[in-house]
Amino acid sequence: MKSLTELTFDNRFARLGDAFSTEVAPDPIAEPRLVVASAAAMQLLDLDPALAEEPLFAELFAGHKLWSTAAPRAMVYSGHQFGVYNPRLGDGRGLLLGEVVNQAGEYWDLHLKGAGQTPYSRMGDGRAVLRSSIREFLASEALHALGIPTSRALCVTGSTSPVWREKQETAAMLLRLAPSHVRFGHFEYFYYTGQHEQLKILGEHVLACHFAHCLEQEQPYAAFFREVVERNAELIARWQAYGFCHGVMNSDNMSILGITFDYGPYAFLDDFDANHICNHSDDSGRYSFSNQVPIGHWNLAALAQALTPFIEVEVLRDTLGLFLPLYQAHYLDLMRRRLGLLSAAEGDEELVQRLLQLMQTSAVDYSQFFRRLGEEAPQSTLAVLREEFADLAGFDAWSTEYRARVDQEGGSQAERRTRMHAVNPKYILRNYLAQQAIEAAERGDYAPVRELHAVLSRPFDEQPGREPYAERPPDWGKHLEISCSS
Ligand code: AMP
Ligand code: MG
Repeated sequence: MKSLTELTFDNRFARLGDAFSTEVAPDPIAEPRLVVASAAAMQLLDLDPALAEEPLFAELFAGHKLWSTAAPRAMVYSGHQFGVYNPRLGDGRGLLLGEVVNQAGEYWDLHLKGAGQTPYSRMGDGRAVLRSSIREFLASEALHALGIPTSRALCVTGSTSPVWREKQETAAMLLRLAPSHVRFGHFEYFYYTGQHEQLKILGEHVLACHFAHCLEQEQPYAAFFREVVERNAELIARWQAYGFCHGVMNSDNMSILGITFDYGPYAFLDDFDANHICNHSDDSGRYSFSNQVPIGHWNLAALAQALTPFIEVEVLRDTLGLFLPLYQAHYLDLMRRRLGLLSAAEGDEELVQRLLQLMQTSAVDYSQFFRRLGEEAPQSTLAVLREEFADLAGFDAWSTEYRARVDQEGGSQAERRTRMHAVNPKYILRNYLAQQAIEAAERGDYAPVRELHAVLSRPFDEQPGREPYAERPPDWGKHLEISCSS
């Protein structure tokens, strides 16, 4: 374990120079205090979780102090926002503080979000509010616990600095960790500005630092793009299987590593709704729940365009063609597991689709359904779940087929329950739970957000006394409106 001052930095991205990022010092927020920290994320940096309580911790992650070997910089990128190309974006309110190398030799980007204005702030104030910082913190750590690849969150620091949104709020900072902060939009920026020399430097950096195994391939760039396609197909399959709606799948919010990135107005589905739009600003539903699959493909095509100087168009096209079949295979595999099925059979895809259709028409709680399905043997659990469905004939027909599949596989109910509970979370990050924790934190009470984080870090475990966290949302919590940046 290390002390806070002992972190080892090796700032590889910063060394690429001024074409890629601009040196900017963090602009501190007033009277910093720790809101919540992730012990698991601290361990990634070899930090003892107890260090979070030291005043130095909040000072570092509220921009008051900095390691002498850090190299805070704002990265430049561009990207397609809601399908429209924006030629210049960049870190408008976040800074890459540097890359920490842990004892295992892993590199972790330290990115401080809400660190003040940069050359890329455009009209923005460079700040993040407490509310959005807590939302990103909770989601990062909750998705990780669910086994969904994501950036991580070390901590949220709060302050007394005022920030104006629709009303006056307070500024906060989030310390995000990821092996890389390179987005699809980084490649797009150098491609569309015609800086192909820099594009090559970026590509070589990404390959050397994050896809070194691709360098052994005959066509390293083609191997790299193929892996990005594969990782995104798997990532989005996980989002769809667990009911996660990202909300702002702009190409600047897509990580080159295939991890969930840049949390905004995200939501986990409460009632199953394939058409759910979690982003209040998304009028056309471009980023609706079911559109995440074609949009994932669309974003990969945007990246492919920026890689045309390195990879033949035919190869890019063929590789893009892998996305949908790979997605479907991953998704079906995950859904089989969620249903407790061990083997693959013809008709499984239809079995899943019919269930989702039934859930959709009856507004059945998506997460609870799967958890309860594994709780007891199918005959008893299906009889109870039946009460949730309006189309009883449809549900009965589905149940008959499902039971036949379970019977055919055999095995004990005890095994089935263990297996299903290991993939069907009891606790998910419902918007209303985040909202309650945020409202308490805004009043200066950080216990609820810390407790919620603790609950969500063990989503598959029974946690006696914490059952209320597994409940469906109250009416007020079903229609919370959340918009893009805050
Ligand atoms: P996002 O919607 O959070 O992905 O942000 C899109 C772009 O707007 C990025 O370039 C951000 O850095 C920038 N941005 C968002 N909020 C702010 C803010 N409060 N101040 C400055 N730039 C911002
Ligand atoms: Mg963004």
